[in-house]
Amino acid sequence: MIYLDNSSTTQVRPEVASTVVNAMTKDFGNPSSLHRLGLDAEKIVKNSRALVAKALNASPDEIFFTSCGTESNNTVIKGVWESRRKQGKRIITTAVEHPAVLEPCRWCESQGADVVYLPVDRDCRVDVKALEDALNDDTILVSIMMVNNETGSINPIEDIRKLITKKAPQALFHSDAVQAFEKLDTDVKKLGVDFLSLSGHKIHAPKGIGALYVKKGVHIQSFMLGGGQESHFRSGTESVPLIAGLGEAVRLAEENKDKRIAGIAETRDYLRERLLDEFADGIKINSPEGGVCSILNVSFDGCRGEVLLHMLEEKGIYISTGSACSSNSKKKGSHVLLAMGLSPSEVEGAIRFSLSEFNTVQQMNTLVDVLKDAVGVHRALLGMQTHKNFKR
Ligand code: PLP
Repeated sequence: MIYLDNSSTTQVRPEVASTVVNAMTKDFGNPSSLHRLGLDAEKIVKNSRALVAKALNASPDEIFFTSCGTESNNTVIKGVWESRRKQGKRIITTAVEHPAVLEPCRWCESQGADVVYLPVDRDCRVDVKALEDALNDDTILVSIMMVNNETGSINPIEDIRKLITKKAPQALFHSDAVQAFEKLDTDVKKLGVDFLSLSGHKIHAPKGIGALYVKKGVHIQSFMLGGGQESHFRSGTESVPLIAGLGEAVRLAEENKDKRIAGIAETRDYLRERLLDEFADGIKINSPEGGVCSILNVSFDGCRGEVLLHMLEEKGIYISTGSACSSNSKKKGSHVLLAMGLSPSEVEGAIRFSLSEFNTVQQMNTLVDVLKDAVGVHRALLGMQTHKNFKR
């Protein structure tokens, strides 16, 4: 098997899995219980919180565990709206966010918010001039992703912070860093964010665990009310096993972060070069130079991404046509690639390779060989003679 869908989800590391199993079978207490088993579970939660905090250069009391990146994003967007709607109505985001940001923004819109969806350039980066124009006294929240999940483009979060401080200092700033965490520097102090979302299953921890950074002094309404766990911000008995797993995944990822990132980037660059060598102008690389190490989005002229996906699957190679969530729900084509100005055939022919440290150069060679056959067969079936559909 060659797994190249790591932006959808990653394989849980064996060390992480055994940490999770231990917390399920041995340290299974409730962290709120006063006896020793409870205290042991509380220690596990505390240890993981400290690990996540250190990775973000935050303090542990600024980290809240959630069930996933989606919950972290919803908590911020709906929470800021509920808490600040009397101070202002404007929420600014981008047209290429993950649905976990777009959908809560649409919900706020249905409640009376004035949501601005900023355009992006051909490289999928937010239009900073449009942001400058949109920021006003009525702005309560800016939510801009750090790394786009389909293209790997990186937004200039630090510069955006400066712009917000200049034009709308009252606005809170959130970044969805689900695809950035442990692949870029996510030092929250350098970035200047008030909120940052992350998700465990993108970094070799299990599904069902996420975290949210909330800057000290920033208070928003919580939508999980109950027993008062997580400093009354997110009630519900803590999922100690999953929290333990997230902590262990972060610990391992931090151990050799720079080397690991450089290794993934090298494999990605090798794949990009091989694809350009083999397919020449029959492909279009949609990921910009200087994007995150793990993502390479490519359109194959005269092909349908979905057909290629299934042809590769038959050979044990797993890729994606876009984000897993949006390919489930939308048939129109990627809202991200469309917002970048790609033509309908470029959007239809797009596939996303997303790598982890477990991918090798040999796997990339096998992939390219399989792709050559698949693209050839697919184009022949469609009767395609020339490769003239793409704009250069
Ligand atoms: N934000 C981005 C950028 C993502 O890529 C994803 C998942 O693909 C999410 C949010 C949602 O994260 P989760 O699956 O943990 O809810």
